[in-house]
Amino acid sequence: MEKERKVISTNDIEIKLNHVGMTYSDGVNVTKALTDVTLDIHKGEFISLLGPSGCGKSTLLRIIANLLDNTDGEVLIEGMTPKEARLARKYAMVFQAPVLYEWRTIRKNIELPLEIMKVSKIDRMETSKAMLDLVGLSKFADHYPHELSGGMQQRVGIARAFAVKPEILLMDEPFSALDEFTKEKLHIDLLNIWRKTNKTVIFVTHNIQEAVFLSNRICVLSPHPGRLSAVIDVNLPRPRTMDMKNTQEFTELVAKVRGSFEGV
Ligand code: ADP
Ligand code: MG
Repeated sequence: MEKERKVISTNDIEIKLNHVGMTYSDGVNVTKALTDVTLDIHKGEFISLLGPSGCGKSTLLRIIANLLDNTDGEVLIEGMTPKEARLARKYAMVFQAPVLYEWRTIRKNIELPLEIMKVSKIDRMETSKAMLDLVGLSKFADHYPHELSGGMQQRVGIARAFAVKPEILLMDEPFSALDEFTKEKLHIDLLNIWRKTNKTVIFVTHNIQEAVFLSNRICVLSPHPGRLSAVIDVNLPRPRTMDMKNTQEFTELVAKVRGSFEGV
């Protein structure tokens, strides 16, 4: 097997989280969702945020994406604030459900953010064609979302995210609504796309095996309050293959990650 490993330089920090915390308050209820998260994320890294429901994974991702303002600490994306990074179109986000427009074809769904960005028609078409190729949906370019399976729709969501050429891809449990077979196929597809495009991926999941299979590093978040309880390196060779899930190395990593949870 090809012993390929991404070489990640420690000087190449893309995202810096310094003592990041989040307390939600609506004037009556106060929830400390996240406390004291300090972490450097490197360019080109595939990093997972792993933890049980309610441990603050989505909160952290939304803070990085500037969909939410942290109440404590500091977030820097290549020296920029999350808002500056968003305005510079540094990132794209993929959610659990892809939110496709039913009246638009697949190609037109992928082109939508480019239309908003006022990209010319010819460039939009060129990009959507390349993205459809990348996710293996070229034949479905002129179909409508309801004609596609859940897994195919999620691939459209990924294609749409990549269409804006983000440096950072933020994914919030993108495959958790899919069946195991579709999910496993999309894992391989996503890793192939990641390898070809060299993006930084921050992947939220509550599934230990999924995190081990995909990641370079796993950030283990524990609840009450949400905090970073461990960061675990995954030194499995790349490209990752399904067979690796049967190896002792894989099983040991899963056990190590499981053992690192606190207060669950
Ligand atoms: P996860 O994605 O890991 O399931 P979340 O980040 O969604 O966790 O939530 C972390 C904690 O913050 C939970 O206790 C949740 O109830 C709370 N929370 C999330 N969003 C809000 C909100 N908008 N207002 C108040 N509390 C919230
Ligand atoms: Mg969540």
